[in-house]
Amino acid sequence: MQKELQGQVAVVTGASSGIGAGVAQSLADAGAIVVVNHPVAATKADADAVLKEITDAGGQGITYQCDVSKEDQVDQMFADVVAQLGTVDILVNNAGIQRDAAFHEMTLAQWDAVIGVNLTGQFLCARAAIREFLRRGPRPEVSSATGKIICMSSVHEVIPWAGHINYAASKGGVKLLMQSLAQEYGDRRIRVNSICPGAIQTPINHSAWGTPEALNSLMRLIPYNRIGQPADIGNLAVFLASDKSDYITGSSIFIDGGMTVLESFVDNG
Ligand code: NAD
Repeated sequence: MQKELQGQVAVVTGASSGIGAGVAQSLADAGAIVVVNHPVAATKADADAVLKEITDAGGQGITYQCDVSKEDQVDQMFADVVAQLGTVDILVNNAGIQRDAAFHEMTLAQWDAVIGVNLTGQFLCARAAIREFLRRGPRPEVSSATGKIICMSSVHEVIPWAGHINYAASKGGVKLLMQSLAQEYGDRRIRVNSICPGAIQTPINHSAWGTPEALNSLMRLIPYNRIGQPADIGNLAVFLASDKSDYITGSSIFIDGGMTVLESFVDNG
């Protein structure tokens, strides 16, 4: 039986660890040829390991080094991927960082770094992907949509986050970037949606689950009472990239074990 993403090319940014690695594996399992993006030479070994897991499981892909906050590198990545793999059908704008500080102590460098990767990076990659979707036109043999973009946002596109204001501002920006893109390109059959994870067990939030005390305290925020795994996000990414979600665009899908229903109100607030 044909797999649901068979013959489609997916670029996953920041795919050498955490959620990006899980998403890359899930998309490859669903038949996509996956570009495992990583930012610098030091992350190449991790990207190679992700690609090896994919190919060991019978999937296909390549690794590609590119800092998503740099315009020339992003445009080069898309040009090289199109030259090598023919086109791009799916972009997962996943790369993201945190540079936490009390707001009054936050440096401009911390602000710029987070906005540069989490928001400008999503702009640059989405722009390059949409240019390719428009150049290539429909591919009805693989998908009803001409292209699909999945933005990795966060529950912090709606939950304010003291001590992480650069991060919360970046994800709030992603929300309206995503919605406005869906509005602007819907008539070209380009679908754009966001995944909004709650707490997923990855390196970015090690302090929130690295000790039993921290994990216990985290559970107070999660009605479903477990931390999420990258594969949870991977399953949703496959759905949002596939024609099973063909009527979904402009949506933020929360995947958070119920975090956004505010566990702290379970005992009447
Ligand atoms: P992670 O640190 O494992 O992954 C982030 C990835 O981005 C890394 O692989 C890193 O190398 C890559 N990256 C950083 N700067 C980059 C750049 N300039 N260019 C390309 N890649 C770059 O953490 P994660 O939890 O897997 O985070 C992935 C995404 O999920 C982020 O956007 C994050 O904000 C979001 N998110 C995570 C959680 C969570 O609980 N883990 C919750 C909500 C949202």
